[in-house]
Amino acid sequence: MDPIRVIRGMRDLLPEQTRWWRWMEQRLDGVMDRYGYAEIRTPVLEHTGLFARSIGQETDIVAKEMYTFADRDGSSLSLRPEGTAAVVRSFIENNLGKKEPLHRLFYRGPMFRHERPQKGRYRQFYQLGAELFGSAHPSADVEIIEVAVGCLQAIGLTDFSLELNTQGCPVCRPGYREQLTAYLREHERQLCTDCRRRLASNPLRVLDCKQAACTAVAEAAPHLLDHACDDCRQQFDQVRAGLEKLGIGGRLNHRMVRGLDYYNRTTFELLAAGLGAQNAVAGGGRYDGLVESMGGIPTPAVGFAAGLDRIVLLLEQQVAEPERPPLLFIAAQPGYWLETLPLLQQLRQAGFTAVNDVRQGSFKSQLKRADRLGARLVLLLGQDEIEQGTVTIKDMQAPSDSERKQWQVERGGLLQEIGGFLER
Ligand code: ATP
Ligand code: MG
Repeated sequence: MDPIRVIRGMRDLLPEQTRWWRWMEQRLDGVMDRYGYAEIRTPVLEHTGLFARSIGQETDIVAKEMYTFADRDGSSLSLRPEGTAAVVRSFIENNLGKKEPLHRLFYRGPMFRHERPQKGRYRQFYQLGAELFGSAHPSADVEIIEVAVGCLQAIGLTDFSLELNTQGCPVCRPGYREQLTAYLREHERQLCTDCRRRLASNPLRVLDCKQAACTAVAEAAPHLLDHACDDCRQQFDQVRAGLEKLGIGGRLNHRMVRGLDYYNRTTFELLAAGLGAQNAVAGGGRYDGLVESMGGIPTPAVGFAAGLDRIVLLLEQQVAEPERPPLLFIAAQPGYWLETLPLLQQLRQAGFTAVNDVRQGSFKSQLKRADRLGARLVLLLGQDEIEQGTVTIKDMQAPSDSERKQWQVERGGLLQEIGGFLER
């Protein structure tokens, strides 16, 4: 029978990879703690309407990329393609804003989009995201960008750049939209079919099209910042001033519109070298109207999401391997396996990583296994050791067995001996 294979665009993360993931996740959690962001966990399945209403019917995500299916009762469900919609749903549903409008939340987990799989682009991928609810002040935008940048810095990544733009607001965007539409109509024949359709439904999306012809048209398009109202312009200036103060800086990219319709004012992306076309590692922005439009009390908000799969790709290229705790391996002469149990228990209780050979083969085969597993020390239990109440410690550092030092210690002094040895 043919074995069943993993679904296209989805992957197993094996121990070689999860080592990196766990190392990274610990550090990222530390960043969230230091900025006062508390974790929220929402389900991976939601009513399809949640995403259609928040992300926008016309976006690629909702129009083409969602995993949508009918539940047993016929209602339409979708695997979440991003995190913000569900966090906003939960914020409203649990009345989080009632007592205290200011909330700092973060989430981490798998997202699902039916895209063309390639390096750094998968159909199940992982995001870490943070949302700051309750402030329209530019200091909130600055904080969110600082957190996103802080995440990359906390894991030792330095080769990335920040791009910024503003999406305006309901006061100034309609005027800009008209100007942009008029300009795009003049160049309609140069645009791809998708963009000709977008012209009527969502002309700002044309700015983001990756087709060469559309890019050329977009280059010369009017800039939103030139049409922004005073409030939006001031907000943007303040955000930039805040980022300057922090030494973060950032480059204005007039053509950046994000892949989700809910954004207003500040939007940003972090781009990293070394990932080819999939160079965006994080993106976010302000979404002041979303909570109200989803039925909540008006609550300004700003947030970001980082793509962890891409960050791990960078880590594997750039950062020295995460350290593993030293492995202790207990080898016992056949017939003495029961004696290994309290010893293992004692070592683990003391915080060591300790295993034995549960196949319980010959002494020799146990030692071979210890070698293959990369054990730092092997603790030998033979008849002599058991009769004398001792353990023989073997230092596995040297490559060949003849060079490996071994010595015997009293059972009572074992933990101290190992602790001292490993610290050296
Ligand atoms: P892209 O332009 O690369 O498609 P996006 O704008 O669709 O990215 P967002 O929705 O802003 O991405 O999600 C935030 C981050 O999540 C991205 O910057 C990226 O690092 C990551 N991401 C998005 N889609 C995928 C995917 N299919 N596979 C892996 N990571 C992804
Ligand atoms: Mg995308």
